[in-house]
Amino acid sequence: MSRLVMKFGGTSVGDVERIARVARIVAAERKPGRGLAVVVSAMSGETDRLVGLARAAAGETPNGGGLPAKDFNDEYDVIVSTGEQVTTGLLALALRRIGIPARSWQNWQIPFRTDDAHSKARISEIEESELGASIDAGVVAVIPGFQGVTEDGRITTLGRGGSDTSAVAVAAALKAERCDIYTDVDGVYTTDPRIVPKAQRLEKISYEEMLEMASLGAKVLQTRSVELAFAHRVPVRVLSSFVEPGEPNPGTLVCPEEEIVEKQVVSGVAYSRDEAKVTLLGVEDHPGVAAEIFDALANANINVDMIVQSEARQAGRQNILFTCPEREAGRASETIEAIKGKIGVDEIHIRRDVAKVSVIGIGMRSQVGVAKTMFAALAQKGINIEAIATSEIKISVLIDAAYTELAVRALHTAYGLDAA
Ligand code: ADP
Ligand code: ASP
Ligand code: MG
Repeated sequence: MSRLVMKFGGTSVGDVERIARVARIVAAERKPGRGLAVVVSAMSGETDRLVGLARAAAGETPNGGGLPAKDFNDEYDVIVSTGEQVTTGLLALALRRIGIPARSWQNWQIPFRTDDAHSKARISEIEESELGASIDAGVVAVIPGFQGVTEDGRITTLGRGGSDTSAVAVAAALKAERCDIYTDVDGVYTTDPRIVPKAQRLEKISYEEMLEMASLGAKVLQTRSVELAFAHRVPVRVLSSFVEPGEPNPGTLVCPEEEIVEKQVVSGVAYSRDEAKVTLLGVEDHPGVAAEIFDALANANINVDMIVQSEARQAGRQNILFTCPEREAGRASETIEAIKGKIGVDEIHIRRDVAKVSVIGIGMRSQVGVAKTMFAALAQKGINIEAIATSEIKISVLIDAAYTELAVRALHTAYGLDAA
């Protein structure tokens, strides 16, 4: 008996006709001796609509207001998780209509357990015994992505884009041969094909590179889904849901590095506009100051990314720059204000119109001059670099957000990634 998990994103289930096509794609994968589980997202636009309703009910306006997270997030999960539930029923009906035995499973029925970090819960365990037996008996299971249930039975969600993670988690629990992620592009590209028409589909990409791509902004897969796939060695394929069964649809395989014969120096370019830059000028320069600052930020649950420290003009003082997600910038500034006395900072500046652009590739480990190419390509376009961060397989720079697309295109060309 083998098992396959298929996942369909919001655009792929955007209306009843598309859901009917999804049913045909699922039917084509059905064969004797293979159990199928299908994970679905909410219909496109639905989650945003539900988020809007939740915020309005909590009294939030474009100028702020609303309930604190502790009084909001659990009911937010109850509201936004309903989008996926609707799709499970619709797809189960569409499958039955073409003669395929199918049923929906809500997460509390599986159950699909998570911790209680509402709105960004992490999966703790999936008890799959009944689910496994049902799909092995030939009934297609249609499962809502994005949602889970806590130990004490409350509904949670896994963060935006979380249906990818649900699908990989189900695949790991069912010991599936593969997890196929059907979406509105026909694979993982060298960069977002929406902004670089010359981007190319990759045949294969390693877990490590996909992890960097996702965490640096390529939203084709949620970062956590790649982490889980990597940890459980689940082969993941990303492919188009707009192709009728039987037509070519090779997609991209996310797989162990060893399976990639030709290792590119740079495989992809990613970008994120969800960045803010916080600059602290004239911070006291003695041991323990950085610890004080980043400890306070961690306690305030602020996700700090790039950090740059440099000497200030005045003796005994330094400047510190860090980045965090845009929506956390206000809180970051309040947190620093609160410890101002202890760290002796002169000025705090926040800039929200910045973007992070990154190049990623496992071949970088063994190649020199990769950074030079990046800096030269940006300089040629007159783009100023405000901060730099590197790891073994990526280089990221912080730039003025107005130049994001220009920078992505320039880097795509500079590393020879443009399609002919
Ligand atoms: P779904 O609703 O199926 O989960 P998403 O909108 O979450 O789909 O993700 C697919 C989108 O990711 C594509 O439409 C594309 O614009 C974007 N994307 C960003 N970077 C990449 C990339 N490197 N390769 C493919 N798609 C990318
Ligand atoms: N519907 C959820 C979202 O829009 C989860 C997902 O589609 O992956 O974020
Ligand atoms: Mg998605």
